[in-house]
Amino acid sequence: MAAPFRPNIVFIMSDDHAAHAISAYGAGLNSTPHLDRIAREGVRMNAVFCTNSICSPSRASILTGTYSHVNGCATIRTEIDHRLPSFPEALQATGYRTALFGKWHLGVSEQSNPRGFDDWLIFPNQGEYRDPVMYSDDWRGTVEGYATDIITDLSVDWMRRSRADHPEDPFCLLIHHKAPHRPWVPHPRHESLYTEGAIPEPETLFDDHAGRSQVIKDLHMSIADHLTAHDLKQEIPEELRGEEKRIERTRWAYQRYMADYLRTVQAIDDGVGTVLDTLDELGIAENTIVVYTSDQGFFLGDHGWYDKRLMFDESLRMPMLVRWPDQIPAGSVCEAIGTNVSFAATFLEAAGIEADTAMPQQQGRSLLPIMRGEHPADWPESMYYRYWEHLDVDHRAPAHYGVRTRRYKYVHYYGDGMGAPGSSDEILPAEYELYDMEKDPAELTNVVDDPAYADVLAEMRAELARLQAEFQDEPYRGPDTPRPQWGPTHGY
Ligand code: CA
Repeated sequence: MAAPFRPNIVFIMSDDHAAHAISAYGAGLNSTPHLDRIAREGVRMNAVFCTNSICSPSRASILTGTYSHVNGCATIRTEIDHRLPSFPEALQATGYRTALFGKWHLGVSEQSNPRGFDDWLIFPNQGEYRDPVMYSDDWRGTVEGYATDIITDLSVDWMRRSRADHPEDPFCLLIHHKAPHRPWVPHPRHESLYTEGAIPEPETLFDDHAGRSQVIKDLHMSIADHLTAHDLKQEIPEELRGEEKRIERTRWAYQRYMADYLRTVQAIDDGVGTVLDTLDELGIAENTIVVYTSDQGFFLGDHGWYDKRLMFDESLRMPMLVRWPDQIPAGSVCEAIGTNVSFAATFLEAAGIEADTAMPQQQGRSLLPIMRGEHPADWPESMYYRYWEHLDVDHRAPAHYGVRTRRYKYVHYYGDGMGAPGSSDEILPAEYELYDMEKDPAELTNVVDDPAYADVLAEMRAELARLQAEFQDEPYRGPDTPRPQWGPTHGY
């Protein structure tokens, strides 16, 4: 096959990087010039959502193009169903050179080692920011340096070698950063950036969660009360403790948290700059797809929280910037809805591979048409979400599913972990939320009991049922509801 028709793919994925911590998304929190360059020279996707907002499950969905109930990776403690084909395997099988560097987080047993890669070097579990342990199938050791820079260096070296040794073969390179995951350890070169006290606070930092479900009020994810001394790099000062100091403590902890978070983002931005420069140097930028995304979003003090897991937009939305000069108009913005389940189909279509043949279980639809700015008449107007882990010890986030359309979001907290690894056995009464994001973009007012929204509620419930049927996920009908087969459990 003629090489020019098969683009190289550079898939850069960070961990817990919210779209509003990329300056191209316009939130005004930080400056990420190299990420912004991808947006300027390609497309900024505004409505790409994850289907289960947590690390391992999102990664499993991306690799296999399937929802968690299909790939078996429902929670941070479950492995992927290793029998499912992944997009790197499909690309490798058709002659792509493939590599993966950085975070894997889909188990540490030999069976869970990455497959479909000519070269790979990954962290065990979450990995460390400084001098991380890394391993491959025939090597394990400590790599000195800062994790983000190490991943960038490995990736750039591999691209150069790939071009030198296999100039005719297209390649697919997965660059998987650990940053900006907790505990947010920046490189010393960024220590003076983002002065504490000067970082803008989100409008919803002091959200009191009135009108929201009880399970939301009971979360252990608040900036005020749940960040640890390890996260904050110091104990909370004596004068900020106690309920009467809650506002002052929130402000102080928010600044500590965000300064380190944004500094770890800065090293990613540096690395993206190096990758883009290398593509230019190698003369392959025109026919290389560059994707920047994160496994899911993150609360940056929004609603008073850190972390993810929930269907609120800050957690649900994945940043996605894509450059492919050959196909995607520079400086474009896409508002059409997509999900992480569709990434595999996207890459396979770009490589000229029929996704449903190469990966029969895959449930996605290539995003290439909407990336190019096309408006297919039958493009989905909604997306289905399900978070399985119920009331985990650290965050107490509830299991739930729901549907998001461009305007509305409906969430059903069904109150049962259904045996998903890491879940509590506690069963809670069902609770529901409905948001009108046109009138209430911050999702502060739950209108599920508002009679003016009765028709919308009925439509959203019908749409949820339709999506569950489409993706063959069983709705919750009490403790006896059939459970999916979970993958093997691992420590995280
Ligand atoms: Ca993550």
